[in-house]
Amino acid sequence: MSNAKMNVVGLTRTQLTHALSEHGIPQRQLAMRTAQIWQWVYYWGVRDFDEMTNLSKPFRATLKAHFCILLPELVARQVSIDGTRKYLVRIENGSEVEVVHIPDEGRGTLCISSQVGCTLTCSFCHTGTQKLVRNLTVSEIVGQIMLARDDLDDWPLRGSSRNGDRRISNVVLMGMGEPLLNFENVRDAMKITMDGEGIALGRRRITLSTAGIVPQIARTAKEIGCLLAVSFHATTDELRDKLVPINRKWNIQTLLKALRAYPRVTNSERITFEYVMIEGVNDSVEDARRLVKLLNGIPAKVNLIPFNEWPNAPYRRSPEYRIKAFADIVTSAGYASPVRTPRGEDILAACGQLKSATARCRSTTSA
Ligand code: SAH
Repeated sequence: MSNAKMNVVGLTRTQLTHALSEHGIPQRQLAMRTAQIWQWVYYWGVRDFDEMTNLSKPFRATLKAHFCILLPELVARQVSIDGTRKYLVRIENGSEVEVVHIPDEGRGTLCISSQVGCTLTCSFCHTGTQKLVRNLTVSEIVGQIMLARDDLDDWPLRGSSRNGDRRISNVVLMGMGEPLLNFENVRDAMKITMDGEGIALGRRRITLSTAGIVPQIARTAKEIGCLLAVSFHATTDELRDKLVPINRKWNIQTLLKALRAYPRVTNSERITFEYVMIEGVNDSVEDARRLVKLLNGIPAKVNLIPFNEWPNAPYRRSPEYRIKAFADIVTSAGYASPVRTPRGEDILAACGQLKSATARCRSTTSA
């Protein structure tokens, strides 16, 4: 890589303006030049300065000398029979992360990663058994969205976006890693994604999922303003300490207090409580009743996720009748409680299976 060049992808508007001024762009042109480059890169998806036809040739030459437009490398793509796609993306130093696209009629959700691996060691999550390699950069986070838009032909005037449909209409930070332990980079990447002159996904179309890094919850509301999902999973501290060990640092009451204060909480912006259904561990009728009590006063929706098994996982998925009984109690208390249909199971793209799946594929191919 031409390491002297600065990557435009991942710069905030302010950083881009600053970088342009350092390369001699006059003060009075800075705002316009920033906007032009921004639109080419983030609105049109252009990767070559020579395609930026409203910029003069000498200016393009300056850009080429000092900047590049680089995405992480897409190394593999798997497509499930249900249309779900899983991308293996290589970032600098050879580390890899996975990205999942879940299509629906006229829309689609992209699940992106915020870290390579994870430090939280939740006992039911395979990603948690892998050691953290590092935080992703802003460029690597927003780059996942841009790569997927390339693959899905989802830039303006191309593919399905020609008739107004966006194949990536929503983004969820629910891939590998804990987004609130990489707060600044996640924030800047989401600001780029929300910018109205670029990718332009509204803040209500982005959901950040956290295991409960309490001090960063208020910042998420203030500095990002996206929707929030919380990996709740247990109704007593005793059990949550085991399932989501970060609970020992910020327990259920502390977490709920932060959620009650989430400043943007309104009925249209409910907090999603993710609850993985594990047989005989957290799926009883008593658990459901306790959950409903804890939620009292919080505009919430409960997303029940049937546990996805992985090799040597210490748990099993709750049987359907228990999930239904649980959902019935939560629903009759007035909370929506959809059961998340596992998507892309045949390509191991389901919640909690990321990365591990790739390692497994690799060992089969090399065997
Ligand atoms: N670290 C963040 C982001 C990960 S989101 C968080 O904890 O919220 C991934 C979601 O999938 C989380 O709700 C996580 O608890 C859930 N999950 C992890 N392993 C799972 C498994 N094996 N089966 C079902 N859901 C799982």
